[in-house]
Amino acid sequence: MSGLTGADCQTCGACCAYSSDWPRFTMESEDALEKIPPHLVAGDLSGMRCDGQRCSALDGQIGVATRCTIYEVRPQVCRECQPNDEECLTARWAYGLGRSD
Ligand code: SF4
Ligand code: SF4
Repeated sequence: MSGLTGADCQTCGACCAYSSDWPRFTMESEDALEKIPPHLVAGDLSGMRCDGQRCSALDGQIGVATRCTIYEVRPQVCRECQPNDEECLTARWAYGLGRSD
């Protein structure tokens, strides 16, 4: 899971569309969670709402051009993943993308 922060992230988005289990809420405060638009939150409040495996906050086309529409208030797990870490590479490979630049 990424915050879409790396140089390559804006043309990727794979980790935001790899698994509906990934964008889960963890250590967020009540204040932080309240800033996420409710329609983008899962019905059971466990994390981001996903359409299939894809986070509903992700805009654009995987591997072409993507962005997180709630970048400033994205969950903690999205802030922690970094380009070329294990999750990044797993997601990129699933979408036929190589290592991030
Ligand atoms: S999979 Fe990697 S390169 Fe792609 S958006 Fe996530 S962190 Fe960025
Ligand atoms: S909240 Fe943003 S950074 Fe996190 S998975 Fe969704 S689109 Fe990606």
